[in-house]
Amino acid sequence: MTLSIGIDIGGTKIAGGVVDADGVVLARHRVESPASDAEAIETAVVEIVTRLSADHDVAAVGVGAAGFIDAARSTVLFAPNIAWRNEPLGTDLGGRLGLPVVIENDGNAAAWGEFVYGAGRDLDSDDMLLVSVGTGVGGGIVAGGELRRGAFGVAGEIGHIRMVHQGRLCGCGNRGCWEPYASGSALVRNVREEAAAGSLIARPVLDRAGGDPDAITGPLVTELAAEGDRFAREQLAELGRWLGEGIASLVAVLDPGLVVVGGGVSAAGDLLLDPLRETFSHALTGRGFRPMPDIRGAELGNDAGMIGAADLARR
Ligand SMILES: [Zn+2]
Repeated sequence: MTLSIGIDIGGTKIAGGVVDADGVVLARHRVESPASDAEAIETAVVEIVTRLSADHDVAAVGVGAAGFIDAARSTVLFAPNIAWRNEPLGTDLGGRLGLPVVIENDGNAAAWGEFVYGAGRDLDSDDMLLVSVGTGVGGGIVAGGELRRGAFGVAGEIGHIRMVHQGRLCGCGNRGCWEPYASGSALVRNVREEAAAGSLIARPVLDRAGGDPDAITGPLVTELAAEGDRFAREQLAELGRWLGEGIASLVAVLDPGLVVVGGGVSAAGDLLLDPLRETFSHALTGRGFRPMPDIRGAELGNDAGMIGAADLARR
């Protein structure tokens, strides 16, 4: 059976795994990410691959990374968190490893992983949208059974569709993108603001954070919501409504058979997805006169990008 290695370059760690043709991760290795040092990151990837390939006969390596990847899936045109500008990462890694290397945008890799092996694996349709809700809002588009990469390789930046004229500042430098309203960071910021303002309804969350608004995290909000805290539930519901609005716009354009919601915040499950579905069902154009896609939680968790990158490298 052909094996390949998938690498997920994240903000805090670099994770690698040997993946078989069924999407099963046979072996793993991960290291702390060496901050934004491009050279050190490349060396860390080489170390992970060298270690994993010592015990497994692998045919190729797929790397998922945040950023714009060129249409040849080799050069990183731009990365937001690492000093990669027109970086020939695929060529460099291929030369050092002696293996074919495919570079893919992390959201695209995760979408492919979910489409082939996760929430989309039994889908009748060849069209799926992944919306990944974590620190930011990312994702990927599968259309006609292929990743939709666009003319220049940089399609699928769904977190930066424009939602609010002159709205909140986004990490990308624009105002009013979807991301500053619908991300895990938006959730945490809203909860912290309420808590810092002394809002009574935010007291249970603040108490759980030891009285320090800055100690409030997304998982903490989800934990309280799961216990029934009204404020935490309402905050997750509000996030879900923002997501439902944007997904309605994306579905109007793409008409996918399935929308998969992944990323760290999707751990909240139906506390997020029910309000999301409710808003979506009232916002989608032509509702009542058209088939509606299913909206489901992702299934592969943090492994989606690794598994997707490995499969893309094998093909
Ligand atoms: Zn933006």
